[in-house]
Amino acid sequence: MAMDGLSKLAHRVARLYSNLLPIPCLLCGVHCKTQPLCADCINDFPKLGDCCPRCATPLTVAVQCGHCLNQPPEQDKSFSVFAYLSPIDRLIADFKYHDKLYLTDVFADLMVEQLKHKTLPELLIPIPLHRRRLRQRGYNQALELAKSLSRKLGIPISKDTLVRSRDTVPQASLPYDQRKHNMRRAFNVNPSSLPQHVALIDDVLTTGHTANAAVKLLRQEGVSSIELWTIARTIRHD
Ligand SMILES: [Zn+2]
Ligand SMILES: [Zn+2]
Repeated sequence: MAMDGLSKLAHRVARLYSNLLPIPCLLCGVHCKTQPLCADCINDFPKLGDCCPRCATPLTVAVQCGHCLNQPPEQDKSFSVFAYLSPIDRLIADFKYHDKLYLTDVFADLMVEQLKHKTLPELLIPIPLHRRRLRQRGYNQALELAKSLSRKLGIPISKDTLVRSRDTVPQASLPYDQRKHNMRRAFNVNPSSLPQHVALIDDVLTTGHTANAAVKLLRQEGVSSIELWTIARTIRHD
């Protein structure tokens, strides 16, 4: 099924569920009326809180971290809502690999809650999947998330600015020191007139090498302000 068709079907099924049947919360089983997770479970999610505006590493105050002062990442800002810890890691895996597309709006709503007071970008660009991976999985979770954010924030989305040119080994399967090399020449950019301020959309920020490779290309196209938006970020212990 085409991606758009799949996403529409998932939204329809979620709406039908919420209208007709109480949904058991995915985590605790309590009956929910309008979404697949109950308010108590959402409240218990591991929120990032104050963090470095550049890389979203949690800090006691929101100032640029030492790591970014020494080796700034390519993006100007990073925005993430949760630490990539239980149960967020499991829910993102369900969203990404197990067709639980009804989680898209839950994640997007939680992001929008914190984004609506910020200066918003003019365009959302999802991190693309290689076409082979897209065929296997049937959808790109980053695109689904970007579509939901686009609807809720009223920001247009570009599906074809970035193209995955190489079918890279999944970053999560590699040791950290090999991930940068793995992302070399991973993307191509379709030349188009891009606005000055854009946000890249992905599910999780880990080492940042995937985003760095994409941001570099957008910079070369003349984009001056590039943000990276993710649902969660892993916590560094170095
Ligand atoms: Zn619950
Ligand atoms: Zn930082």
